Amino acid sequence: MSGNNERSALSIAQRQFDATADAIGLDDALRVMLREVKRELVVHFPVEMDDGSFEVFTGFRVQHNIARGPAKGGLRYHPAMTLDDARALAMYMTWKTAVADVPFGGSKGGVVCDPHSLSVTELERLTRRFTTEISLIVGADRDIPAPDLGTGAQVMAWIMDTLSMHAGFSVPASVTGKPTAIGGSEGRFTGPGRGLTMVTVLAMRDVGLDPAGATVAIQGFGKVGGVSAELLTAEGMRVVAVSDSTCGLYRGDGLDLAALRHLKEEGGSFSDYGGADRLERDEVLTLDVDVLVPAALEAQISERNAGKVRAKVVAEGANAALTTEADAVLDDRGVLVLPDILVNAGGVIVSYFEWVQDIQAYFWGSGDVNARLREVMTRSYHHVRAEAQAHDVTLREAAFRIAVTKVAEATKVRGIYP
Ligand code: NAD
Repeated sequence: MSGNNERSALSIAQRQFDATADAIGLDDALRVMLREVKRELVVHFPVEMDDGSFEVFTGFRVQHNIARGPAKGGLRYHPAMTLDDARALAMYMTWKTAVADVPFGGSKGGVVCDPHSLSVTELERLTRRFTTEISLIVGADRDIPAPDLGTGAQVMAWIMDTLSMHAGFSVPASVTGKPTAIGGSEGRFTGPGRGLTMVTVLAMRDVGLDPAGATVAIQGFGKVGGVSAELLTAEGMRVVAVSDSTCGLYRGDGLDLAALRHLKEEGGSFSDYGGADRLERDEVLTLDVDVLVPAALEAQISERNAGKVRAKVVAEGANAALTTEADAVLDDRGVLVLPDILVNAGGVIVSYFEWVQDIQAYFWGSGDVNARLREVMTRSYHHVRAEAQAHDVTLREAAFRIAVTKVAEATKVRGIYP
């Protein structure tokens, strides 16, 4: 298994791992084990469409490492989803859960489809059949799915129901990001954006930037980008630009986030919005702002446009939004990059809280959830920053050093079976 395209997410993930393995002097046996995913399932399955025809869809579930606990990772519904993406993203989940020190391994999966072109009933049939196909390897003790690009609470509810129907009783801990009516956690929806906001504010203060009045541009206005926009604003920042898959929007005195959220809830696109200046879609990445949050897809900042990024801080909301080349360019130019496996970990941290609550059948209020999230995000940030200072490396290199060391230790102490 190796990434065949230099800019593919897998190739980026493996190069980051190789560099870390070199830096920490990882022994060869652990190096070959951790560079590969542990288990991958590819499924092709039919779904009956509303007009009575059948279509065959392809889906994946990949587990990278489970030495520290059950595999944990999202499910993505996207037309460009590939097995390589699932492998890379599973690897990132292993590192992310290790940096946050939650007792999970890493996995990822998804279906190659455009969820926006499917009706609700088609989406439900697709989800239930896909769940059945991957039920061979997922479950509360084995591998716990969660929302990602193109999926949300409703899809998680169908997954939970399907797995529960198979078991003959309710298994709420089999999936996270569910509605609270069936064992979801308070604060799960806002978790990734809230965690991103917490770390961004801590890091800005550390480098002498005042969050109050700082300007922000955000690529993507979904679960991560949309919530980050609101919570960064609540910290006194001004969101002047956002984008979705159609275009960018700009307003120097701050965008009307409530209007944009309403537009999205109604199924609209930013190209339908008249309350701001229209930008080319990728222009949001290179605006003169204090903080840039790429929160859409992988490899959005690469050698192609990294030289044009003018933000002082980049908070990597989307996984692998920056390529390794972009990282080097931004580091040279003194841009502070808050890496994905640290800054967007709020999703998996609150997912961990949800799983714990489901297993105990004892639920916490949102104040409790958010306070515990703050505790974990703050601890992780300080740990990563101290490691960066101790070894004179970037925050990404530091986060990878912590993660790979921790996963290697667990893998080593368990030994190789038989
Ligand atoms: P989402 O589907 O809720 O939102 C994605 C947004 O990106 C949408 O607004 C979409 O219009 C926009 N978009 C798509 N292509 C674009 C493009 N080329 N340019 C600009 N905008 C574009 O997805 P999400 O859950 O917010 O996930 C976004 C990213 O964050 C993904 O990389 C995901 O892996 C990562 N992430 C998600 C979570 C989570 O819990 N949801 C946690 C951590 C990281």
